[in-house]
Amino acid sequence: MDTNELNVPGYEIPPEVQGQVAITTLDRIYNWGRRASVWPMMFGLACCAIEMICTAASRFDLARFGMEIMRPSPRQSDLMIVSGTVTKKMVPIIVRLYNQMPEPKYVLAMGACASGGGPFKEGYNVVSGIDKFIPVDVYVPGCPPTPQALLNGLMKIQEKITGEHWRNSRWYQKGRDLAEIPIPILGPDLIDPRKVEEYHRRLAESEA
Ligand code: SF4
Repeated sequence: MDTNELNVPGYEIPPEVQGQVAITTLDRIYNWGRRASVWPMMFGLACCAIEMICTAASRFDLARFGMEIMRPSPRQSDLMIVSGTVTKKMVPIIVRLYNQMPEPKYVLAMGACASGGGPFKEGYNVVSGIDKFIPVDVYVPGCPPTPQALLNGLMKIQEKITGEHWRNSRWYQKGRDLAEIPIPILGPDLIDPRKVEEYHRRLAESEA
C-alpha cells in the first residue's frame, strides 16, 4: 500500500479555512508518536558500535530523532541495532534479547558484519548475517558505516513506521503468529533448532 495513501484523510478543506483547520488520521497520530520515540537497545558488538556511540553523542545527536533514550533492557526497547561482528557465541544471546523485546519491534543491521558476515564471513566463529536468525528491517552498508549512514538507516525505520497501518499491523492481528524464535544452541558448532530436520536429512544423504 502506498504510504501517502494511508496518511491522506480524504477530506476537501476549503482554501479560506485551511489555516484554521487541521484534519488528521488515527494512523498519522499513532505513527507520529511511535516514530518520534523509538528507543534503541543499548548494546554493541564490535567496531561498528563505536560509530553507533558517536551517533548518540552531541555531534550527531540522536535526540533530534527522539531516539536519545537508549535502554539497557530489551523489555523497554523497540529497536535493536546490531552493530558489529556477530559471532556464533553471541547469536543465542542476541536471539534471546530479540525475543524479550515487546512488539512492535524493529531490527537494524549496522555494517557489513551484521548484514552478511563482512570481512570475517569465512571465519569459523562468525555467522554470515544476523538475518539468518532474526528478521531485519533495515540494512546499513559500510565497514564501519559513518554516523550519517546510521542516521539515514534510522530515518528509514521511521519511514517504515510512518507507512504502517494499525489495522493490519501483525501485532494486532487475531491469531497472530508472534511465537518466539527458538534460541540457537552453541555446541561444537551453532545449531539452529529450526533446521534440525534439514540437518538430519543432510546427514542421511551423506551416509547413503
Ligand atoms: S563492519 Fe567493519 S567496522 Fe563494523 S564490526 Fe565489522 S569489521 Fe568492524
